[in-house]
Amino acid sequence: MVFEGIVIHKVNYKERDLIVKILMRNGTMGSFYIYGGQGGGKHHKPSIFELGSMVKVQIKDQKNNRIEGNELMVASESSRLWEPHNIRHNIQAFYLVCLYFEVLQKFSMNFQIGNSDYENNEHAGIFSVISNALFHLNESLIKEQFSASQHLTLFMTKLLFHLGIMPDTDNCSYCGTDLMESVGVTFLASQGQFACTQCVNAENEKGFLLRIKKSYQTRYQDYMELTDTNFQEADKLIQYFCHQFQLRPVELKSYGLLLR
Ligand SMILES: [Zn+2]
Repeated sequence: MVFEGIVIHKVNYKERDLIVKILMRNGTMGSFYIYGGQGGGKHHKPSIFELGSMVKVQIKDQKNNRIEGNELMVASESSRLWEPHNIRHNIQAFYLVCLYFEVLQKFSMNFQIGNSDYENNEHAGIFSVISNALFHLNESLIKEQFSASQHLTLFMTKLLFHLGIMPDTDNCSYCGTDLMESVGVTFLASQGQFACTQCVNAENEKGFLLRIKKSYQTRYQDYMELTDTNFQEADKLIQYFCHQFQLRPVELKSYGLLLR
């Protein structure tokens, strides 16, 4: 059986082996044991399992290799299809990608050989969000257009949409007023809703509303059209995501590093 996906986590094991988590094309997360996966050795083989790399992994017959109750699949052959070369040379881009991978691990379903159906594409939207995010982030570095808040805003909006937890950006959650017609609107992160400032007296966040709507409509390749983003607003999306999954933002370690 052959799997394709993006390396989102890796741990060295023994002298030369690796255990990797791969976000696969069907949107679930597979865990693989890779003999010799660290590279090196006599021939100084490079590791193909850098974070963010798109890889292809073939597994051995699991009947003989499977440890009872263990989700690890033992790779027999593997190759790299693509890697985001430029990301590891930019520290902010690197932390951003680490944040993406941490976020993905908070909700992704584990793929279990024998129990999960690889052809089930129910969660494939998640794969398309992360693969597009990596590809265009790498492109933005090549073109020297990289903006971390722009990419983070786009990623979080697309992700919330694919998770089916996108806030209602059309109507006030209290009175139903069209938010675009209201002078002031405010975001209630704990409820994942917007309200007009007639109903809730708080800071006017109309700009944030407009940028969420814009992110939702902007295709990943047109990322430069999403302008005026900032970390304060991206943070509202992170706070909201955390609230939905009962996490605290401090649990996302790369997030603190990114903002430093
Ligand atoms: Zn209202």
